[in-house]
Amino acid sequence: MGETEGRVRYCRKCLIRDLMEGESFYVSLKNAMDAIPEEDRSPQQEYDRRLELCRACERLAEGMCRACGCYVEVRALRKNQDCPYGRWEAEHASNE
Ligand code: SF4
Repeated sequence: MGETEGRVRYCRKCLIRDLMEGESFYVSLKNAMDAIPEEDRSPQQEYDRRLELCRACERLAEGMCRACGCYVEVRALRKNQDCPYGRWEAEHASNE
């Protein structure tokens, strides 16, 4: 899980091999998503909307955002996360 030190955020467990040991990669991602507390999660409709925007984005590659390096299915699940290019917010604002 990410930690904050000043204004720089970093992750202490970023190596894929740490995530993959003994499990498929997807199962590891699913476990990471399942560990996100309910109160920190995006509502299902917002989650689906974010993922549709990522699907249409040229920066998506094999589930990873090339702008931020996150797996978008995990990033989009956290309600307080955003798209590094503001695409989730811009779309959201136009719907209000
Ligand atoms: S988070 Fe933003 S930049 Fe990254 S893949 Fe999704 S829409 Fe594209």
